[in-house]
Amino acid sequence: MITRETGSKFKFMSYTISIHGGAGTILRTELSPEKEEAYTNGLKMALQGGEDVLAAGGTALDAVTVAVSLLEDNPLFNAGKGSVFTNSGRHEMDASIMEGKALRAGAVAGITGVKNPVQLARLVMENTEHVLLSGAGAEELAQMFNLPFEAPDYFFDTFRHNQWLAVKDTSGTIMDHSGEKKFGTVGAVARDEQGNLAAATSTGGMTNKRYNRIGDTPIIGSGTYANNATCAISSTGHGEYFIRGVVAYDISCLMEYKGLSLREACEKVVLQKLVALGGEGGLIAVDASGNTELIFNSDGMYRASVKSGSKPLIAIYR
Ligand code: ASP
Repeated sequence: MITRETGSKFKFMSYTISIHGGAGTILRTELSPEKEEAYTNGLKMALQGGEDVLAAGGTALDAVTVAVSLLEDNPLFNAGKGSVFTNSGRHEMDASIMEGKALRAGAVAGITGVKNPVQLARLVMENTEHVLLSGAGAEELAQMFNLPFEAPDYFFDTFRHNQWLAVKDTSGTIMDHSGEKKFGTVGAVARDEQGNLAAATSTGGMTNKRYNRIGDTPIIGSGTYANNATCAISSTGHGEYFIRGVVAYDISCLMEYKGLSLREACEKVVLQKLVALGGEGGLIAVDASGNTELIFNSDGMYRASVKSGSKPLIAIYR
């Protein structure tokens, strides 16, 4: 916690970070105590990693990169190592990142083998003149900058493979996380002590998705958005609806043009507009003052949040 003098007043400069590990039909009755503990620990570790960056005076951008990388390394979450299978039995990952000061953004879509897709999205933002790179071109950039790659067996997980085998001969797709409606994806939003906002999101997409299908995660304005003047958002849910609803940018617009608070804007978009469209899922959000929302219209969402000087919140169910 830091206080800085601004003029004659002391201004309280605080940081905050929130993360999610996907939303969906996550029911207490379906999660064993051991699994619940494993998810809770995974969230706790990733939140701590991000908070350590902010507590040391680091940037929101670094904090969300670290938190999302830790979630990508945890096979419980559908991103990086834990990515789900496409209809051709492969892994295709999407990720994006944005910072709210200069509205810079980077994203990758349909990439394979890259250990931490969020780091590649950041590379696109910081080292190219582009925002969104896909497939082989994105992977080549990762090689040029020596980002770590992993062999297919690193991404193999029996649970995910069984999820895929159950639907592979159908035309259906399933989201991650139990029951019929399964959403995966990981994300983080943060506000640092300088008042800068950032957001990052990463996913393996949907089990049995048509190969080369791209969801909302790498779409700036749908899966991820950050603007210091309004908010930072990371979404999870049925991506097609989040793209159609331009969900993250819609929340920012409601704040900017209609003067809604973060809470009012999130409720309008997630609990009303998305529901009317038929889109299930949720998102995490932080505004310029550090107010935080963890909101979803599904049964649950793996989520965690902490503000400087307070105890972390970790939750799964409604
Ligand atoms: N939004 C992601 C997608 O549609 C999936 C998810 O959040 O689980 O690719």
